[in-house]
Formats: sequence, C-alpha cells, structure tokens
Amino acid sequence: MLCITNGNVILEREIVHKNVYMDGEIIVKISDEAPSVHDQVIDAKGRYVSPGFIDVHTHGRKGCDTMDGDVEKLKVISKENLTTGCTSYLPTTMTMQKEDVNKAIDAVAALKGNEPGAKILGVHMEGPFVSEKYKGAQDAKNIIPSTVENFQALAHGHEDLIRKITLAPESAGALDLIAYLAKQGISVSVGHSNATYDEAIAAFDAGANSTTHTYNAMTPLDKRKPGIVGAVMDDPRPYAELILDGKHVYYPAARILLKMVGKERLILITDSLECTGMPLGQYELGGQPIWVEEGRAVLNDGTIAGSIAGMNEVVRHAFEHLNVSLPEAVNFASRNPAKSIHEEHLGLIREGYKADLILFDDQIDVSMAIVRGQIKYNKGE
Ligand SMILES: [Zn+2]
Repeated sequence: MLCITNGNVILEREIVHKNVYMDGEIIVKISDEAPSVHDQVIDAKGRYVSPGFIDVHTHGRKGCDTMDGDVEKLKVISKENLTTGCTSYLPTTMTMQKEDVNKAIDAVAALKGNEPGAKILGVHMEGPFVSEKYKGAQDAKNIIPSTVENFQALAHGHEDLIRKITLAPESAGALDLIAYLAKQGISVSVGHSNATYDEAIAAFDAGANSTTHTYNAMTPLDKRKPGIVGAVMDDPRPYAELILDGKHVYYPAARILLKMVGKERLILITDSLECTGMPLGQYELGGQPIWVEEGRAVLNDGTIAGSIAGMNEVVRHAFEHLNVSLPEAVNFASRNPAKSIHEEHLGLIREGYKADLILFDDQIDVSMAIVRGQIKYNKGE
C-alpha cells in the first residue's frame, strides 16, 4: 500500500494528524497505525494532505486550449493542472462552430483514460446556447437555437462525455433541452444568460442545478428584477460557480453569495484560459484576440475574458477572504464540485473514496499530486 505519514490531513470538517493509506486507486484507511515494511511511504513533513481539487470550468493553460482540439495540447493542460492542485477537471469548450466543437470533443475522447496528469472527468460545454446580451467572451455569431438535435450534433456520438453544459434558459426550446440533459445526468448550469428571476427558477424546476461564474455574464440582483443572481440566492437547489481570482468578483460580493447559498453549494472554478501561466502579452480566445495584463485577461473592448488563476490560488483567496476554515475552503474546490456533477466517491479524503490527493504548505503552494493512487507530480523532481 501507499501511505502518507506525518501530514495534517484535511477531512470534510476537520484537520487530523493521521496516516492515509491507499490501495490501488482507492483510499482504504485513515489511521494512527504505523506503516509496515511492505508499504511505500511518503513523508508529508508537516504539510497539509488535501483532497485533489476538481475544476469544473477551465479552458486551458500554458498556451494550450481545449478548443485547439489537439491531444498533445490536452496533455500539457492535464499535466499543468497538477501544479495547481487540480487532480481532475472538465475541459471546457466555447461558443464556436459545430466543426470546432466536434474536433475539441473528439480530442478529449481520444485522451480520456490516458491522461498524463490530472484526470478528465468529461467535458463542460460552455455554449453555444447562450444569450447575445450576456455573451461575455463567447462569440455571438456562433450562438444557435437550443434544441436537442443541435446538442446531439455538437456532441456527435460522445453524449456520455458531456458532464456539464452552460446555457441561457430564456431562449426558445431551452427548458425542453434542460429536461433532456438533466435526465442524462448532465449538470445544467445557467449562465451567459439574460434570464429573469422567474426564468431562472423555471430552469431549476426543469432540472438545471448550477449557475455559471455567478455574478459574471448574467442578470444582476435588482430590487424588482432579482435576476439570476437573486434566483441562485433564493432557491435552495442550485450550486453556484464562482471565479475567485480577486478580479472577476469583489470579495464582499463573494462573501454575500456564500452567506446566501451556504457552504454546501459554493463551487470554486478558475475559468482559466490558455494564456494562464504565460507572460503578459497578446493571445487568442475562441478565435478572438485577448490581452493578458497583470492578473487578468481582457478582450479588445475591455471585457474581462476569463481568469489566469490556478485552483490553489482560488482556494487561497477563499481561505483569506471568505471567513471560512481551511477544510471548508477545500470543500468548495473538491467535495462540492464533485457532487454538482454527480461524481460519486470523489472530492474527499475518506475510506472508499478515489485516491486523488495533494500536498501543500501554509500558502497552499502545491508540492505533490497523487492521482488515483499514483504520484503524478512531485515538485523539484
Ligand atoms: Zn468559461
């Protein structure tokens, strides 16, 4: 067995000083029992032992984007994710032409199961069923009607690979599409949307279970028009994605969201772009030029396009700014996203759960990542 000793182990609600044992891909024991001579031992040297982070909304890293539709580039993203503590993720497509989305999904399907780093849990399809008004960095010319047929054409035979979809529920036919997707077990997230409060609630009634980068690219909370922001705060069902990079949302607004949705429903995401981890300069996003400035990426017109953060950074921000414990901040990035996409036995250090673990220090700088019981990243080696 593989055993991590001498670590501060982050469980769902507390931090304990115990040994974590893994057998194959599974966590089998969390105990005081000393390892035997047959066990392979990792000395955590007082570092935190945490469940690996799960990013359900990330486009790319290090010059590589999911929309490149290139297996080699997806491998780079998979490996780079580990340096941020992300051990599994949903490569996220954008609102582009059907052929481009098809190509991206084909590449993900080709790599899934043979990832060199973080595991691909499936695809998050961001658009193309979105609102022109709230398109954000999505290209309006590629928006198409919300129909089951259009969805099937985009997935083209890989429907089982789609785990999450961001759409605007106010468009014609969207509620039928939501019901269809929810029935397949796909997490439907309301976003890039001009929906009213009532339209958002109708989406949750139809089976949507999330809001995409809450506050960004959606109808805001107003006293007579509570919008999508009001709907996710008022309705007890949906999860709320949040980009906590310190740029997309002001921290007090993030604290208000947390107070309203509670600690079980907040999901930290990066929404990271291919320019993440790259020098300042000009890059590309969904066929449009973007500029990387200090800490953020913007389009020609100044629209903020996505983040250049890593999962460990958004967790650090949550711990520093949301008045939560470290296990709670970690849950926002592991347990909650796992539950939101109906992923069983993932996102917690618990017996019987998948052995996706990371080691980090007080600054949440990640030094090791274990994916399904195998050391896949060891800083300095
Ligand atoms: Zn995105």
